[in-house]
Amino acid sequence: MNVPDNQDNYVRCLCYSGRCPTYDENKLDGGLFCARGKHPKNPQQKKCICPDCSVWQQYQLSSLYYCIKGSAEERGGK
Ligand code: SF4
Ligand code: SF4
Repeated sequence: MNVPDNQDNYVRCLCYSGRCPTYDENKLDGGLFCARGKHPKNPQQKKCICPDCSVWQQYQLSSLYYCIKGSAEERGGK
């Protein structure tokens, strides 16, 4: 499913929780990349913790690395 870009989803996003090596090692900012799409820094892939996220589960996502590869919408709703 596509993920709405809203505050409820943003607060549940784990990207900026201090638990994602890709986010932390690339010194990213923001979050909710599954709705908002790629981070402009073109981050290096380390590890993605999206499957632990309640947003990922609620919208039945199945992809990883939205910060690198683009939003769920750009990836066929996955
Ligand atoms: S699925 Fe990933 S990008 Fe989307 S809100 Fe959760 S942690 Fe953030
Ligand atoms: S999309 Fe995945 S890899 Fe990118 S910051 Fe969020 S949890 Fe980390």
